[in-house]
Amino acid sequence: MSKLYTLLPELKDIDSIAASNPEMIKKRTLNYIDCEFERFPVDALIFGSEDRTLPTVVLVGGVHGLERIGTQVIISYLKTIAQSLQWDEDLKKWFKNRRLIAIPIVNPGGTAYHTRCNPNGVDLMRNAPVEADADETTWLLSGHRLTKKLAWHRGEKDKLELETQTVVDFFKEEVFSSEVCISMDFHSGFGVQDQIWYPWAKTKKEKFPYYNEFVRLQKLFEDTYPNHIYKIEPQTKNYVTHGDLWDYLLEENQKREKPTVFIPLTLEIGSWRWVKKNPFQIFSIFGLFNPVKEHRFRRQMRRHVFMLDFLLRAVRNTKKWIL
Ligand SMILES: [Zn+2]
Repeated sequence: MSKLYTLLPELKDIDSIAASNPEMIKKRTLNYIDCEFERFPVDALIFGSEDRTLPTVVLVGGVHGLERIGTQVIISYLKTIAQSLQWDEDLKKWFKNRRLIAIPIVNPGGTAYHTRCNPNGVDLMRNAPVEADADETTWLLSGHRLTKKLAWHRGEKDKLELETQTVVDFFKEEVFSSEVCISMDFHSGFGVQDQIWYPWAKTKKEKFPYYNEFVRLQKLFEDTYPNHIYKIEPQTKNYVTHGDLWDYLLEENQKREKPTVFIPLTLEIGSWRWVKKNPFQIFSIFGLFNPVKEHRFRRQMRRHVFMLDFLLRAVRNTKKWIL
């Protein structure tokens, strides 16, 4: 275990968050990813009631192993919630009627060894069985099956990588019975500003099933926090992709007899501004996706708290945005 902790100190944080309040915070190891020398767990933390029908917020990180800052923001937020549960009686009541779930490191092999892909060389955000509109895609970037030497490889046709399958199974089992779910998937490495993207990733031609709910949710957010920091736009404004995990989960949700109101969002933490301010970062692959200077790291840790708190409030208070 100690070697695992050295490679992925975030696993230790996950364990200590769960240990801080066993009554209210449960850790579940969803699967193990075998690499050449190590076996990495894919861990989930579940805050609050075990009732799967309750409104749920899900935070997902580390899909791309290089983008470690997303995992760290999630863990920092969970530590704050866990610490607050030690003394805040109102917050304890919150978690009787909603759930907060996190999978901070979906791709532990990639995170440990600083690669975007999983240890099989597959981009987990191109791996799901979803085909994008061919006339809207960008060569390579949208996903391909040419060679794993190039980024954005989709993996074998119709074969989900174990990490992808693990997330899909978990959503079907643990999340899709909830009456409403907002998820936030943390990435970095694109753009100057922090961006929130909404689905679809596969096409510009149609709206995703809960688009109207999303628009009202966005309005609620912007009315509540008029000075917020995010650029909010459809993912396809930036690029269209094959195999997007959230597109696939939306499609699977729609096949259910009673689909949950499901709004899967992506946070793209704008890392280019760190490179702009500290150009030496460009010489390190890690530095292209993560803040290197301590004060920028700390700023990221506190920057998203208000938005994540908003999601936890909104998921329970739906009158304004689910009609
Ligand atoms: Zn990413």
